[in-house]
Amino acid sequence: LSVLEFAVETLQVKHIIVCGHYGCGGIRRAFEPPDGGGLVDHWLAPVREMCRRCAPDLARLPTEAARMDRACELNVELQLRRVAATPIVRSAWQRQQSVTVHGWIYGLGDGLLRDLGLKLSSLDDAESLDRENEYAGLAEPITMVRRHAEEAFAGLTMLEPPLLEEG
Ligand SMILES: [Zn+2]
Repeated sequence: LSVLEFAVETLQVKHIIVCGHYGCGGIRRAFEPPDGGGLVDHWLAPVREMCRRCAPDLARLPTEAARMDRACELNVELQLRRVAATPIVRSAWQRQQSVTVHGWIYGLGDGLLRDLGLKLSSLDDAESLDRENEYAGLAEPITMVRRHAEEAFAGLTMLEPPLLEEG
């Protein structure tokens, strides 16, 4: 029984917060070449793929720090989509259970928690985010890498565990 399953099905939480943070070492590492195919690289594969896909947009940002910050925000969106795509959240929405997945990010530098304005409350919301991303060239194709990553994620669930808040 996963934390997510327990929270949604047993506790019936109404809000799931996917919270990333700026200055994330995992994101920094995703910009470097994989170094041996260990579990961490396996785990970072979808993040690496996202960084690769977003590289043209990131390249427009003026500094390395701004690129890293943006990548940390994009990772929140990626992880939010992963949570929204789980059978746990999808079936909650199918049975009209009220649950909203939010994307937040924490600044270690200033101690501020920011709401990225990403909020999914229904299957329709999740689908419209997917459409937006397809339009922006962000949709993930089903590749072997992704399939492997999904298998790994099925056990690990998240790059960082979501904070679950009952409200
Ligand atoms: Zn981190």
